[in-house]
Amino acid sequence: TWVPFAELLAEITSVLELEAELKGTTLAMTGSVQEEVYCDRVRIKQVLINLLGNAIRYTPPEGRVEVSVSVGLGKVQVVVRDDGPGIPPESLPYLFDRFYRVEGSRNRQSGGMGLGLAIAKEFVEAHSGRLQVKSELGEGTAFTLILPLFPVS
Ligand code: ATP
Ligand code: MG
Repeated sequence: TWVPFAELLAEITSVLELEAELKGTTLAMTGSVQEEVYCDRVRIKQVLINLLGNAIRYTPPEGRVEVSVSVGLGKVQVVVRDDGPGIPPESLPYLFDRFYRVEGSRNRQSGGMGLGLAIAKEFVEAHSGRLQVKSELGEGTAFTLILPLFPVS
């Protein structure tokens, strides 16, 4: 179905804003999208909630999470960037595997099944989209979600 993407983003940030606020983390939104996107609303919502939820969960309280959205070349791009601990380069190849979680005390105590990114990647690929990660230890992490605006046959 056609999904007003700005509305979907607003729905997600309104929920996660509260979570970030309770933790003391800054959640910022930049850019805009006027277009509707042909996608499965429930699944893409789940993808974005996981990316944003991860960014908030794995970033220290005083951290900052930024969501930037832009449209171009028939695609919508959403970048979720945090200034948290980053992901070790040796973990990056396994990040989208089921049940994979990066070793370390920081995430053992904080729930999580290690399924979110595996499911996200499946959903995104089912939409002919892409999900990429860039991360630098001690600097932060950025996930980029790219979705075609129009149905792909
Ligand atoms: P679930 O999403 O199933 O509740 P999860 O968050 O552990 O559990 P994923 O979302 O698949 O699982 O993430 C896998 C692992 O990648 C996480 O356990 C964490 O170690 C690491 N990770 C994900 N996002 C970030 C991030 N923004 N910063 C640092 N580490 C991250
Ligand atoms: Mg997760």
